[in-house]
Amino acid sequence: MSLRPWRDIDRRVSRQIHVGSVPVGGDAPISVQSMTNTVTSDVQATISQIKELEEAGADIVRVSCPDEETTTALKDIVKAAAVPIVADIHFHHARAIEAAEAGAACLRINPGNIGNAERVRDVIQAAKDHGCSMRIGVNAGSLEKHLLEKYGEPCPEAMVESALDHVRILQDHDYHEYKISVKASDVFLSVAAYQQLAEAVDCPLHIGITEAGGYTSGTVKSSIGIGSLLWAGIGDTLRVSLSSDPVDEVRVGFEMLKSLGLRHRGVTIISCPSCARQGFDVIKTVQTLEERLAHVSEPITLSIIGCVVNGPGEARETDLGFTGGGAGSGMVYVSGRPDHKMSNEEMVDHLVGLVENQAQMMRDNQPDNPVASENEI
Ligand code: SF4
Repeated sequence: MSLRPWRDIDRRVSRQIHVGSVPVGGDAPISVQSMTNTVTSDVQATISQIKELEEAGADIVRVSCPDEETTTALKDIVKAAAVPIVADIHFHHARAIEAAEAGAACLRINPGNIGNAERVRDVIQAAKDHGCSMRIGVNAGSLEKHLLEKYGEPCPEAMVESALDHVRILQDHDYHEYKISVKASDVFLSVAAYQQLAEAVDCPLHIGITEAGGYTSGTVKSSIGIGSLLWAGIGDTLRVSLSSDPVDEVRVGFEMLKSLGLRHRGVTIISCPSCARQGFDVIKTVQTLEERLAHVSEPITLSIIGCVVNGPGEARETDLGFTGGGAGSGMVYVSGRPDHKMSNEEMVDHLVGLVENQAQMMRDNQPDNPVASENEI
């Protein structure tokens, strides 16, 4: 029995596969993915976006490979990337083989859509030869015609049946390094499909709500959909799909995992909404701190509370804290205890310095494995 059983999440036990160096499934941390939106054949632009995503903490990045130019570019992109690259392929078997040869760690492709048996065999062989895993990506918006006719409309059963049809093809070729997604833009449909799929297969699941919308609406929708799956223990890797900067997808993904205690990357700011009692401008301070601390990957908690109504209580539970007081200054908390006073003007620079020092100390103590260390708190 854990100390706080109401926080426990029993993760569904899946078998583990690898996307390049990143384990997915089993007891691996839930990985966060995003996708580039540059033109893939513009190698420099694509690499620079991948670097931004890596900086934000992305574990895996996907790039579209619609034509031969892009699979040619993929070679240089894979070489420059520190994270494994997933090649997004639709239908075209030659692109899949080229992407595997170019060093893609994973192919996002539905084997049932590749074409004749020979093409399917060639793609699977290329994946085996080059150590590529695959993601079967079922999407409610592009379900096979015969399933739509059978079920009348996209529904969880149709999506799971589609996934299982693709799985069968891979298994018939003795290929087992795959994960599956069953995404829909409708939260109910997507969640129900994942719940049914989780019962039907033992492979890892890539979860997400597709075409979720813009930054705010998409974040809310994804948090409800992905959040409820994660809370039920379902999901081994995730992508938040936003019509926004791909870096936002990574940040939102980590915030979801942090909210559920599943991963702990970066600074978590606990802050009050502010009101007339605030001793400093809470909203502006939090916005500035979020920007200035975005580069910190060590798991550190920081409370920024406008006044003593909730300040001391929240500070007790965080690594560092600031609570507004009177006369233009407030109290800095260290390890839950009031430590020293600081003026409102100097407080942001001061807190950034304290967080960076703490991050440095954590790095000095655990230099080897950032994923392991972020999960050890
Ligand atoms: S902590 Fe204080 S300033 Fe913040 S919302 Fe509550 S009462 Fe208002």
